[in-house]
Amino acid sequence: MGAGVQQDATTYCLTLFLTEAMRVRVGRLGMVGFPAGWWVYTGSARRNMDARIARHLRRDKPRRWHLDYLTGDRRVIVVSVTRHAEPECRRNRRNGGIVVVSGFGASDCVAGCGSHLRWLGAAPVPDAASGGADSLRQHPQSPERGHPCT
Ligand SMILES: [Zn+2]
Repeated sequence: MGAGVQQDATTYCLTLFLTEAMRVRVGRLGMVGFPAGWWVYTGSARRNMDARIARHLRRDKPRRWHLDYLTGDRRVIVVSVTRHAEPECRRNRRNGGIVVVSGFGASDCVAGCGSHLRWLGAAPVPDAASGGADSLRQHPQSPERGHPCT
């Protein structure tokens, strides 16, 4: 994950794979339905980016951000993390996909993104559920609309 780190990066993207459709209570958003498949989350950290990302990669943590409700769930695999100097909202819009969960991760968004979590589609990955992230890396079957954040 250390490759390609940009010095001035304040934006990060997490590509997530949901091994199954989920219904999860997400803080103030209430009960939310998430289709299975590929998702990309775009966030920002003006400082302590490493700590923020490390936190996203831990399952066991208090639920603080919307994203914690996904990354803390065993059915969710963090497939990749990338960092960008590009402003978070512009990056988010360029990631493609569609908004499924309005308001997710966008509490501070002033650009009208609608959501900082976008669904890229349900392209299945063989052995994803049993093999975890390592098998995903060996089968880089990206969504049709292209792998974002690379
Ligand atoms: Zn935004």
